[in-house]
Amino acid sequence: MIARLVPGCSVAAKAEIIRHIEGQGLRVHVGDSGTSTVVSIIGNPSPRLADELQALSGVDSVTLEAPSYPLVSLDSQPGPSVVKVDSVSFGDTPVVVIAGPCSVESSEQLNTIARSVASSGAVMLRGGAFKPRTSPYSFQGLGVEGLELLHDAGSGNGLKVVSECVAPEDVAVMVEHVDMIQIGARNMQNFRLLSAVGEQPKPVLLKRGLMSTIDEFLLAAEYIMSSGNPRVVMCERGIRSFDTSTRSTLDISAVPVLKEMTHLPVIIDPSHAAGRRSLVPSLAAAGVAAGADGLIVEVHNQPDQALSDGAQSLTLDGFADSMKTIANVAGALGRSVALL
Ligand code: PEP
Ligand code: MN
Repeated sequence: MIARLVPGCSVAAKAEIIRHIEGQGLRVHVGDSGTSTVVSIIGNPSPRLADELQALSGVDSVTLEAPSYPLVSLDSQPGPSVVKVDSVSFGDTPVVVIAGPCSVESSEQLNTIARSVASSGAVMLRGGAFKPRTSPYSFQGLGVEGLELLHDAGSGNGLKVVSECVAPEDVAVMVEHVDMIQIGARNMQNFRLLSAVGEQPKPVLLKRGLMSTIDEFLLAAEYIMSSGNPRVVMCERGIRSFDTSTRSTLDISAVPVLKEMTHLPVIIDPSHAAGRRSLVPSLAAAGVAAGADGLIVEVHNQPDQALSDGAQSLTLDGFADSMKTIANVAGALGRSVALL
């Protein structure tokens, strides 16, 4: 159930409406755009509640049907949310670019990449320390040592850092070392992990599962928000299709579709969709053209020697070139690339 309040509803009337709902053992989420307020009722309201609310001062209309993801839904909050990672803002006009290697491999590798991507215009550094690899024999990441290297390379180069968390028991150590926690495609429906990152304060980058519908993706975000963390950024990274010419099929339509359904920021990962570097600049540009709030791109100083995902990693020069195209596309749409 959703109650829309009249424009300019007084603070006292709003408080009375919330008290009435909470008095019935229900939870509320209040979305305020500045001009309109929407109160989403979470739980199982009695059918009487709609009439009771309609009779209260300040209520404009009550909708019985509630979306299955009341916190994530655009209905719960008119207008986009801005998710801040310190000074970096996802969901504002500028396009946020995150770049870095698939995996943290060494201090030298990471610092070389961090220095270069920062000078090309990235504002965040990515790097996996706990890697979810398809084969148990592939490089699994440096673990906590990798997080320490990532933290140092980020702060040494003025970049905020993001890294993937693969297990609820690792959440505490992630919080200590990173500015944003990534939930990877393979874990998008690991519900205990979603709740665990929802119970901590750092923003979360949630990637779409390889075989997940948009509805399932939104419900995964709802798990995080309903556990207490409103700072979620959605990431389309390609889905599995019948076509094998790319590693995954980048679902560009996910960007405008999600924008119609959620207030949360949406970014694109062209690297994992493409699977090979030659395609990455086009997919990155397409993501920005479709209205993505940002990009996360794999970049390596020696892609041919990378311990993971080298084939899809841009070279340092390739990333610098791609950033020029991204800035041109953003400019054509009246946007810019976010600066440090
Ligand atoms: C990654 O970012 O390196 C990664 C494993 O991504 P995804 O979960 O999208 O496959
Ligand atoms: Mn990767």
